[in-house]
Amino acid sequence: MLTHVLSRCAVKPALSTAHVARLSLRASLARGYASSSSEYDVVIVGGGPGGYVAAIKASQMGLKTACVEGRGALGGTCLNVGCIPSKSLLHNSHLYHQASHDFKSRGIEIGEIKINLPQMLSAKEKSVKQLTGGIELLFKKNKTDYHKGWGKIVSPTEVSVAGADGSNTTLKTKNIIIATGSEVSPFPGIEVDEEVIVSSTGALSLQKVPEKMIVIGGGVIGLELGSVWGRLGAEVTTVEYMDAIGAGMDADLAKTFQKTLQKQGMKFKLSTKVISAKKNANGKVDVVVEAAKGGKQESFEVDVVLVAIGRRPVTKGLGLEEVGVEVDSKGRVKTDSEFKTNVEGIRAIGDVITGPMLAHKAEEEGIAAAEYIAGGHGHVNYGAVPSVIYTYPEVAWVGKTEAEAKAAGIKYKIGGFAFAANSRAKTMNDYEGTIKIISDAETDRILGAHIIGPNAGEMIAEAVLAIEYGASSEDIARTCHAHPTLSEAFKEACMATYDKPIHS
Ligand SMILES: Cc1cc2nc3c(=O)[nH]c(=O)nc-3n(C[C@H](O)[C@H](O)[C@H](O)COP(=O)(O)OP(=O)(O)OC[C@H]3O[C@@H](n4cnc5c(N)ncnc54)[C@H](O)[C@@H]3O)c2cc1C
Repeated sequence: MLTHVLSRCAVKPALSTAHVARLSLRASLARGYASSSSEYDVVIVGGGPGGYVAAIKASQMGLKTACVEGRGALGGTCLNVGCIPSKSLLHNSHLYHQASHDFKSRGIEIGEIKINLPQMLSAKEKSVKQLTGGIELLFKKNKTDYHKGWGKIVSPTEVSVAGADGSNTTLKTKNIIIATGSEVSPFPGIEVDEEVIVSSTGALSLQKVPEKMIVIGGGVIGLELGSVWGRLGAEVTTVEYMDAIGAGMDADLAKTFQKTLQKQGMKFKLSTKVISAKKNANGKVDVVVEAAKGGKQESFEVDVVLVAIGRRPVTKGLGLEEVGVEVDSKGRVKTDSEFKTNVEGIRAIGDVITGPMLAHKAEEEGIAAAEYIAGGHGHVNYGAVPSVIYTYPEVAWVGKTEAEAKAAGIKYKIGGFAFAANSRAKTMNDYEGTIKIISDAETDRILGAHIIGPNAGEMIAEAVLAIEYGASSEDIARTCHAHPTLSEAFKEACMATYDKPIHS
């Protein structure tokens, strides 16, 4: 079979790098990975999307695998206090907002609409519990050992586990993967109490809808959580040091996105720095800001401040210094392209290393690291890692922004298509937003795709696949898309890139 596939490579040289890595890995696995002793082949420290996925993959490939997790539940930041609870709140707050402001125009009349916040929070908890419990089941199914406790690397072949029950176990292993993730970056001088001055974790569990809320940081997490509380009735002001929101998204999209959020009632103070935020005698928070370049200060009294200025890697107490694992100036574990640290047998993946702090990036690295250990080959295409902001409408992008293409000296073409000209979006009465495609001027290969609009987070998968397989905009434009679907807008944007769209 392998020979058959390899012989096809000869006639079809345009195999993706992922495909080539897969073929090499299968060839290596055919040679086998022998585990002779009772020690582990791999011990993974951290059970987030990087760690638990690496653990399952390693087990599936026949490696004797253990995962050490200290927080008492698998799934890491993502499942416990990140992607999953935030998406539950985003979805349900959107439904509430839609029922309050949009249903009538759609011909749906209902009585008084009220928020039951405890119920909304418990629906969120339920989704978290179901998913974290599901990973435990997957561990059992794949015969992955789960050690509950905090891990410390004692030597390149030993991890000690301080169990919640006071036990102390040492696991012997041939390989270690550090997957300890990230934590909220503190704002110097601002004390988070998770009640009125909250991090993203506290913002997922506010017991009351604040009247006024300030979000420090106009990145993905701040905008998502600001949207949740804004939809539920809070007056939300986002304070951002930079002159644009959206954490590095394409500049055109960032402008459209900001206008859209403003229409929804979110206020912005860009190019502004927060000087202080302190709890006052009324139990509220006094916030002082001034222009980033200096000037007159402004003060506000608000009910809640969300500090969302970023995340930092977790390496404290892990024993890195003792075993000599190097970290960079930002505290991230240094790795090579195979996720190897400078210490033989120790690798690292996910938020604790360089790259975007995203769950799917951590998962890809988890799979690749397990594959490197088992068979010597793995694959992550960092040029095809999508980003999504799950606001309404959603924003999603992959590949190069226009500014990046320009800075790289690439000659490029741009094509666009507005959802207002898409029939499905019209029937849904949900047509705010646009798609922007950037392709190479000479080869027409897609370099980047940027979407703001309904279901952008799902639609971006088509662009990711296109980039992974080196598709041109014409390839997509000539691919039949079902009608009437939102994805026709993507096809039309590609038509606009290589030639002309039909419907605008
Ligand atoms: C509010 C919020 C929303 C987010 N939304 C999204 C989203 O929609 N999409 C997306 O892609 N990303 C999102 N993220 C980011 C995403 O959660 C992270 O990128 C992802 O969880 C990183 O995975 P990881 O496995 O590297 O680390 P983590 O998920 O941080 O997991 C690391 C785990 O290691 C454990 N650990 C640490 N040290 C030790 C030790 N010594 N011993 C044992 N265990 C240890 C920790 O307890 C933790 O459970 C969001 C983050 C936040 C905060």
